[in-house]
Amino acid sequence: MSSAGETTPLLPAHLYVHVPLCRSKCAYCDFYSLPLAGVTEDVSTIAGSLAAQARAWLARDVEPQRLKSIYIGGGTPSLLGLELAGLVALLTTWFPLAPDAEVTVEANPESLDPVLARALADAGVTRVSLGVQSLDDAILSFLERPHDAATARAAAQAVREAGLALSLDLICGIPGQTTQSWIDTLEGALVLRPEHVSVYPLVIEAGTPLSAAVAIGDVPEPDPDVAADMMLLAQHVLAQAGFARYEVANYALPGAESRHNTAYWTGASYLGVGPGAHGMLDATTASAVGFVPARGEDVARLRYSVVCDLREGLTPMPRLDIEVLTAAETRREDVMLGLRLARGVPADQAAVAGAASALETLRAAGLVELVDSRWRTTERGWLLGNEVFSAVWAGE
Ligand code: SF4
Repeated sequence: MSSAGETTPLLPAHLYVHVPLCRSKCAYCDFYSLPLAGVTEDVSTIAGSLAAQARAWLARDVEPQRLKSIYIGGGTPSLLGLELAGLVALLTTWFPLAPDAEVTVEANPESLDPVLARALADAGVTRVSLGVQSLDDAILSFLERPHDAATARAAAQAVREAGLALSLDLICGIPGQTTQSWIDTLEGALVLRPEHVSVYPLVIEAGTPLSAAVAIGDVPEPDPDVAADMMLLAQHVLAQAGFARYEVANYALPGAESRHNTAYWTGASYLGVGPGAHGMLDATTASAVGFVPARGEDVARLRYSVVCDLREGLTPMPRLDIEVLTAAETRREDVMLGLRLARGVPADQAAVAGAASALETLRAAGLVELVDSRWRTTERGWLLGNEVFSAVWAGE
């Protein structure tokens, strides 16, 4: 029990569960996931192990609080089939939800049918994030996605018919992708009536098959100017349909912003469960669960990543790689994350974080602006986001 003046350590109000399975690996992907064919455990065992990792947090010496969001991502959670609905049902039994909680699952078109969509809705899922990426079959084939455009449309329809909110992921700046192909994808996506759309430029990640193909000249390097133009085109097409860009890569109809992802960008704590998942704890909770190395250290925030391998089995309490942030680093991180949001960060918060001088330099370069006493990233700044975020983090 906490004494007077101490804060009661609470488990975070947001939970992320990583499902490390995919039908096959897409050419550009460096997320931690294994192709289903290479995994010996069945999906029921995997779902049960992930549930056990989540439940193990309830055995620690901290108070649970009602969850405002659960996000089951991956990987391809929908590959768990009806076991995914069972996982959601277990999690929502063990972790009571706040009245208006958001419960999102990621799904891929090839593994989401009307039966699964209905079962997810019955289990308490409120929202599906569907990995469509493109509605051009040639582009999907280039990316080595395990579905075609017709399958993506059918999966989106299943989500709508189950009464679930729909978010679509799309990728632009792909070698061989024409402007017309991108426009067709954007317009085709709107026909599917999503409330939320995420738009990412293709990034060539080291160690992926696409990176190898670029290295030997089989595939041209994506052109950042083309990707920037396509991002602007997306903003234009989506704005005309009533979508506001509320974060660098995310658009929503009014009130349909992702509450889970917004928690990441506003410094809220969250639990991460499953191989490769990340979590974040405040210092009080981190100390209560014994994660802060030494008392008296300047620790305000703790980030962790879950280190375990599906091929070796998932234990309820896997090893965590831990990174601690000081109070000053935490304040700078909050400003850096806040600049991802369209609403930006209050100028006085940035000043207290010691980021004012870095922001003035970025303003001179046209990457941020000061509007109504809030620092906001400009259009150009969003296109050069890493420059903005790293300058604020470095405090330069
Ligand atoms: S489906 Fe998603 S997580 Fe799986 S390999 Fe493709 S991009 Fe990666």
